[in-house]
Amino acid sequence: MNIHQVIVVGAGPVGLLCALDLARQGVQVCVLELEHSTTLDLRAGTFHPPTLEMLAPLGVTDAMMQIGLKVPVWQSRDLQEGLIAEWDMSILQDDTPYPFRLHLEQHRLTPILLEKLTAYSNAQVLFSHEFIGLTQSPEHVSVRVKHQEQEVELLAQWVIGADGGKSPVRKSAGIEFDGYTWPERYSVVSTTHDFSHLGYADNAYVSDPEQWVAFFRMPDLGPPGLWRMTIPVGQAHTDEEVLDPQYANSVFQRVLQTPADVVYPIVHQSVYRVHQRVANRFRSERVLLAGDSAHVNNPLGGFGLNSGIHDAMNLSDKLARVIVQGESCELLNLYERQRKSVNMEYVQEISIKNKHNLEEADPKIRQERFAQLRKINASETSRREYLLVSSMINSIKKANSIC
Ligand SMILES: Cc1cc2nc3c(=O)[nH]c(=O)nc-3n(C[C@H](O)[C@H](O)[C@H](O)COP(=O)(O)OP(=O)(O)OC[C@H]3O[C@@H](n4cnc5c(N)ncnc54)[C@H](O)[C@@H]3O)c2cc1C
Repeated sequence: MNIHQVIVVGAGPVGLLCALDLARQGVQVCVLELEHSTTLDLRAGTFHPPTLEMLAPLGVTDAMMQIGLKVPVWQSRDLQEGLIAEWDMSILQDDTPYPFRLHLEQHRLTPILLEKLTAYSNAQVLFSHEFIGLTQSPEHVSVRVKHQEQEVELLAQWVIGADGGKSPVRKSAGIEFDGYTWPERYSVVSTTHDFSHLGYADNAYVSDPEQWVAFFRMPDLGPPGLWRMTIPVGQAHTDEEVLDPQYANSVFQRVLQTPADVVYPIVHQSVYRVHQRVANRFRSERVLLAGDSAHVNNPLGGFGLNSGIHDAMNLSDKLARVIVQGESCELLNLYERQRKSVNMEYVQEISIKNKHNLEEADPKIRQERFAQLRKINASETSRREYLLVSSMINSIKKANSIC
């Protein structure tokens, strides 16, 4: 039986990127995807400077920039106090060639990756192929796959689980997913209503003890784009209630302080459960995890997919060195040390802190935080430091320093 060099499970953004970067380096790779095509996913939408730097050599950044929205300035706001601080990322121009956030819908990135991947003759993408289990030997991994009600077995030297938060690969490899699930869900709502005339930047985080909101202008199919808001939803409301446009309208009316007869045209709505979890290992012998299969976090800060992309590029570089250049498998343990550490110390810690900051109820702590943000923003040195962290530039420096 033919032994694939690498099987990647999952044709989400992380799986496709792992496959693309491996194929580029001459590795023979096969992607298995449960669905019959790439999925329409309204989740991630913000890309940070290091992500754009990493994707540039693959030609992906140029393709994203053609349809994405450049966001050089974002805001910290409060529902009662209004604007607290405006963060102009041009101060990072000596730190990165991309001193801005790029907004692009996740489901418009995956077709770019797929198109580039299918140009490689050493890459294969099998849609409607469901991973159902694996067993490992010292030489290879045996993967069981369901296709058209038939079960088939495939062999691979290495398997990458990029199959999302529920990751059947992670479960088959017996890897624990430590952490917790938040009691509240998040709702994502898009409208054609334009908030820029209210003074909102294309990305704004609005704190409030009862109803914080994260706003993003998304490119959609072209100007003026759509405005997307992410809001927390308490247990008192069912999914059905939350998905009623009237619920979204009442949130917009409250947040934007408009009368009850103002109607916001709703284009999309969805509800998600939100988790903070990290796999206790990113490697089990010949099985490796990347993206949401390895870690999940709340979306405040836009770290989830960005860190998944950082995993994909770190892993594909090391795995290609092992396969093509015959370097030691020890390199793959370095992948785990680098990416697991920054996920724990950076992505988990800061996304949790961002959530607590937005929902803080103690008036004294709220005022102290506003004063601190204004102080940071007033000094060029502290503003740059703050943006080096929030734009993930420091997380990459930290990962690269781990040996
Ligand atoms: C509300 C919300 C907003 C977000 N906003 C941001 C943001 O602005 N910035 C950011 O960086 N991140 C954000 N995220 C996180 C981001 O969406 C995820 O981190 C990202 O989707 C992870 O990509 P992935 O490829 O690892 O997994 P997924 O996108 O989940 O892809 C996994 C793939 O595996 C396939 N699969 C699953 N099981 C099997 C199987 N058995 N066999 C074969 N295939 C299988 C699935 O069908 C899917 O195609 C947000 C998340 C949420 C919930």
